[in-house]
Amino acid sequence: MNLAQVTYIWIDGTVPTKTLRSKVKIVPHTKEHLTVEDIPQWNFDGSSTYQAMGHDSDLTLNAVCVVDDPILGMGNYLALCEVLNPDGTPHMSNTRAKLVEVMEKFGKAHDPWIGFEQEYTLFKGQQPLGWPDRGYPAPQGPFYCGVGADEVFGRHLVEEHAQACLDAGIMLYGTNAEVMPGQWEFQIGYRGVEGESADPLTASDHLWLARWLLYRLGEDYDITATLHPKPVKGDWNGAGKHTNFSTRAMRDPKTGMEAINKAIKLLEARHNDHIKVYGHDLELRLTGKHETANISQFIAGVGNRGASIRIPRPVASKGYGYIEDRRPGANANPYEVATVLVETICGVPVNTKEQCAI
Ligand code: ADP
Ligand code: MN
Ligand code: MN
Ligand code: MN
Repeated sequence: MNLAQVTYIWIDGTVPTKTLRSKVKIVPHTKEHLTVEDIPQWNFDGSSTYQAMGHDSDLTLNAVCVVDDPILGMGNYLALCEVLNPDGTPHMSNTRAKLVEVMEKFGKAHDPWIGFEQEYTLFKGQQPLGWPDRGYPAPQGPFYCGVGADEVFGRHLVEEHAQACLDAGIMLYGTNAEVMPGQWEFQIGYRGVEGESADPLTASDHLWLARWLLYRLGEDYDITATLHPKPVKGDWNGAGKHTNFSTRAMRDPKTGMEAINKAIKLLEARHNDHIKVYGHDLELRLTGKHETANISQFIAGVGNRGASIRIPRPVASKGYGYIEDRRPGANANPYEVATVLVETICGVPVNTKEQCAI
């Protein structure tokens, strides 16, 4: 008999920005390796997570994505869960269920892939990591992708987090130090690995797991990571969650540019519907400065980092590939971002003549 420590991780009902919760269950089993089907459902007290009233508080945890636990080690697991009502229907805080629905409708025809760039800011106490106790560091300039103890802060944690993601089997694409000191980025999703699916559900699940690992490893250093989109007011870059998106037709050299241009038109028409789910306090970040477009404008451009949608230069040169939606804030919920992107770009009726036009 094996005894696995399974950390059940779920998303709570905190308003305006949901946060992660977790608790551990010992799962006895006789298998070599556990998969999602082997993780028994469990429950929790929804009245302590803004998900239920005290008189009827039991909610169900249903595992949807299970990876090796890189911290407790081999034989232990991290189980990302969705929250269900006692009758088995998705709880109202369960934004994953909606993504499942739109993927069932449009996923097959369009085969969307996603890559999220998750920016975040490390804090030690009340100050961003590496900032002086009072006042400010030198103005932005040398910090982005910098090296040296005077330029980047927290690399140890960043490297440990990256290795933990890889050990867990999470689709980590890369990491970099950001423009504001103490700010970093990691990317999750498409990375060109044979046999790996960067579909919106898997990429979003992996992003939530990677966020959990970052917070958890930060505990060991007494460092917190915040996803606030504008952690320091003033002339400092905010933190985003650029979302790179492609469909089968965008990736096809024959239809690529046409599909990309069509997607941009569709995105423009639904700008406000996207902004609504791109994270709380987004207006503090999307000012038109600091590599953003103003929240009230929709701008698309090749290689333009002041745009809402950027077509990466190499994509424009090749004539196919993907687009980058630069609007989501760091605190946006990947399930909601992915849902609205799939709805807008893939939600057009697919008829035989126009099949996979996008
Ligand atoms: P940036 O230049 O904006 O900082 P990064 O190098 O940080 O870009 O990240 C590139 C992102 O593009 C990664 O998240 C990767 O997964 C994503 N990506 C690359 N190709 C595709 C594709 N075909 N479809 C979707 N996402 C893609
Ligand atoms: Mn990036
Ligand atoms: Mn970045
Ligand atoms: Mn980017």
